[in-house]
Parts: sequence; structure tokens; C-alpha cells
Amino acid sequence: MSGALSQATPVRALEEVACNLCGGTATAPFTRKDGMDVVRCTACGLVYVNPRARVSDLTEHYNSGESSRLEYYRDAEAADRRTFAEILAIATRLAPARGALLDVGPCAGTLLLQAREAGFGVQGIEINAGAARMCREELGLDVRAGVLEPDSYPPDTFDVVSMGDVIEHVPDPVATLRTVARILKPGGHVLISTPNVGSAAARMLQVKPEEHIYYFSAETLAASLRKAGLETVEMRTLDRYRNFTAMTHSTTCGTLFQTLGPVFRLARRVLGDVVLKLPLRENLLAVARKP
Ligand SMILES: [Zn+2]
Repeated sequence: MSGALSQATPVRALEEVACNLCGGTATAPFTRKDGMDVVRCTACGLVYVNPRARVSDLTEHYNSGESSRLEYYRDAEAADRRTFAEILAIATRLAPARGALLDVGPCAGTLLLQAREAGFGVQGIEINAGAARMCREELGLDVRAGVLEPDSYPPDTFDVVSMGDVIEHVPDPVATLRTVARILKPGGHVLISTPNVGSAAARMLQVKPEEHIYYFSAETLAASLRKAGLETVEMRTLDRYRNFTAMTHSTTCGTLFQTLGPVFRLARRVLGDVVLKLPLRENLLAVARKP
């Protein structure tokens, strides 16, 4: 380590990790952004950030205010309600008698509110303590602060687990999916959405090595689910609804739209609440079942 680092602002220590899916360590460069390398496992094709920030630094990051998630998701609520309605339509088809639903990473709580309206008994677990408190105090939702650990909930507890835009953030996706398999009731389902590394739009807009440490394709997501003991029953692309106001906060689109300057400010004034959906195949939606 160079002595030049000693007096600078603290530099985050990075650590090397093996492929989460196959354990391999042979990789090829995928891309490089924000000073970090994104690599592709040459054995199984999983794309991930390596080396990366330590896990303790990631938890700190999501509680530091550096992450724009809460503000973004609050502004995105009108658009998200439409995206989540599509996801809940699948959940209600799979669980016609409803039952218990856990949302991992509920952030502003929008999906939980809709699931409650749809008749589910809902709980959430959220890494951002401020967001968890807001869900409890302002929305009356049963949301605890923390990350999903193997002993967070008893086995065979939930009929449905949803994880929207979470799996790309967690340090050990297969372990997290094994926990999901453990807490689902037999025959229960997990619904996962995540950026689709197979889409050009996601490769252009969703590479954010600071927060997104894994990049799944339909193949690597299905393989991860299988490794965790879950059976994939549906795998398709999902395009989110978006509105202009939320896009100004989005780490994905904010920079892009800000470069458009006055044109964009006019568009935001006129179109702020207009909800649109672009056919970018930007996200994957996987539905898997516990045998
Ligand atoms: Zn691999």
C-alpha cells in the first residue's frame, strides 16, 4: 500500500471475491466505471464487481444519505404503483388465498401498501433504517430495519416473498436466495426484479458499481435460483413505468437528463406527472417456487 494514502480522506478497502454462482476465479473484463472493474466469470457468465467494497462499508453506504433511493422512490410512487400492480397481479394469481407476503427492501413501502390493499398480510425488511422508520411511523407498516439473514424469520413463514431491485445489491445473492427458500412455505413463490444485463439499455444505464455489485442475465439468475433450491416458473423482461419528476433524482437517468438543460426543465414542468414506459427490456422478472 502506498504511503501517499495515509493522510488522504479514508479510502475504502476493497476485497477480491470469487464468483458467487460457481466459485470460479477466472474472469474477463466486462466494463469499468467510477474507477471500479466489472468482470464476467469465464466459467458461468455471471457479471459482478471485483474487487469491491467490504460488506460493512455497503451497509454504511445505504444509511449515509449517499444513496438517493428513498427520495427517488417517493417521487416515483405514481409510476411505481403501476409497475408494482403488474407484479402484484402475478402474486395474487400464484396465491389466490393471499396469505403472508414479505417485501425485502421495501424502501418507501409502496409495494407493501398495494399488497395490503390486495389482501395480503404484509411485512418488510429494509437496510435503510430511516426508510424503515418512515414505513412504520407514517404508513403503519410492519417493516424492520436490517438485512435479510438466515435467522431473520422462522422457516416456512411466507406465501410470497418479493425482492424488487435488491438482488443486485446483496453481497452473497445465492445465500440470500437460500434464506428466501428457507422462509417460504413449501409451494410458496419469490418474485425478483433486477436489471437485465442482457439488455443494451441496462448495460448503458444500470452499471453503478458502487451499489450494483451483481449483473444478472436470465441464465445466471435462473442458475442462482436453482443453486438456492428454488424452481424458476417464469422468467421475462419487465419495463418499469417512470415519470419525469422521479427521473431527475434517479442515479440512472439524472445525469443524462440534466445534460439536456433547459429543454429538460421545460419537459419536466409540462410532463412531470406523466407516466411512461419504454420498451427497453431493462429489467428481468423472475418467479420461482419452493418445492
Ligand atoms: Zn461463475
